[in-house]
Amino acid sequence: MFKKILIANRGEIALRVQRACREMGIKAVMVYSEADRDAKYVRLADEAVCIGPASSTHSYLNMPAIISAAEVTDAEAIHPGYGFLSENADFAERVERSGFTFIGPSPESIRLMGDKVSAKQAMIRAGVPCVPGSEGALPDDPVVIKRTAKAVGYPVIIKAAGGGGGRGMRVVHTEAALLHAVQTTKAEAGAAFGNPEVYMEKFLQNPRHIEIQILADTHRNAVYLGERDCSMQRRHQKVIEEAPAPGIPRRLIEKIGDRCATACKKIGYRGAGTFEFLFENGEFYFIEMNTRVQVEHPVTEWISGVDIVRTQIAVAAGEKLPFTQRQIQLRGHAIECRINAEDAYKFTPSPGRITTWHAPGGPGVRVDSHAYTNYFVPPNYDSMIGKIIVHGDTREQALARMRTALAETVIEGIKTNIPLHRELMVDANFVTGGTNIHYLEEWLSQRDR
Ligand code: ADP
Repeated sequence: MFKKILIANRGEIALRVQRACREMGIKAVMVYSEADRDAKYVRLADEAVCIGPASSTHSYLNMPAIISAAEVTDAEAIHPGYGFLSENADFAERVERSGFTFIGPSPESIRLMGDKVSAKQAMIRAGVPCVPGSEGALPDDPVVIKRTAKAVGYPVIIKAAGGGGGRGMRVVHTEAALLHAVQTTKAEAGAAFGNPEVYMEKFLQNPRHIEIQILADTHRNAVYLGERDCSMQRRHQKVIEEAPAPGIPRRLIEKIGDRCATACKKIGYRGAGTFEFLFENGEFYFIEMNTRVQVEHPVTEWISGVDIVRTQIAVAAGEKLPFTQRQIQLRGHAIECRINAEDAYKFTPSPGRITTWHAPGGPGVRVDSHAYTNYFVPPNYDSMIGKIIVHGDTREQALARMRTALAETVIEGIKTNIPLHRELMVDANFVTGGTNIHYLEEWLSQRDR
């Protein structure tokens, strides 16, 4: 096992990885930007290295600075967390070329899955169902583009091969709008992602977002840890996640989960990963794979009893998965609310000093956050300041526990989205379960009226 790991991230996930290291008897090196200098998790680390100014381009995205921090501290491995450099194949390559272990999949896997066209083709080959659409990238020929759209059936969605974060997509309802949409998306994709390639998919009208968590080792073992429902989204950003997904028959999950695990073996995937699907009319359609740990991993940890971060570290060190698929038993129901420093309904960021931080507790409540009373939320990064996760024997119990947890939480000095979560936890449709990816935005627009 590693003796020392460098954590190339910040905030709650940096603390989450630090906790896993502690538990495993591994020393943790934190890197931090000037904006995060005073954060407690930085102070609590075994070692900490400043890698640059507040701007993430010059700190958390600064590859040479991070690699030299690993060199000067004699770290053996680098955990990238999520966001920042976690899905950057060039970074993974540089880490390995510099003699460190990258805690994640190989650069080849990251590259394959990072390009959505090649990811989709790999999934089709591996027998994972995908959204019907163009075979690979769209060519330039307008006749072929029109023919493809006709075959797929309107409405279609034009998506950038290199897209991410909900950017680089355009829905097209009629042939009249098609060619212009393809041209515009291409131009935007070229400018934003350095890759003008686009592809076409059928635009699903009312799907749910269901994802499968997998873990794979370097000994050709791969298991899935059930699914998560992340349909409660705003602008493609997840707000609430839960596991299992309400109302989806276990046999469907087992079938798709098994396909995902098999696909991992086929592509030689290692580490943690998530297959994201749209789910409509009883069918799963693959949209993309995330080759890293995800924000919402705690809901899966809770129902499966598997520590995903610990397992990431163990398989990166070459260990075998400590369980087989048969040994994975899912129990109860877990829900996560993302706590953001923002206005609950206008969504304007609200950085600044937290004057009171009172976290909830009690049976079945977990809080993953780096925040505390007097913590200053810097304006430079994502607005998420933590997550409240609850578990119950049933979904009803989990909902009740989340309501109690949200009622107990007191955060003063900045605005948060807790009022929004409190309302959603008593919303009749959310309480019933199974809302689709448009539900939250529709709910918000009705609330505004
Ligand atoms: P990104 O990497 O930018 O998150 P995804 O491919 O995961 O891109 O898609 C993001 C979101 O866009 C999905 O969660 C869904 O809401 C919407 N979306 C993507 N493809 C389709 C589709 N074929 N039909 C309907 N909605 C889609």
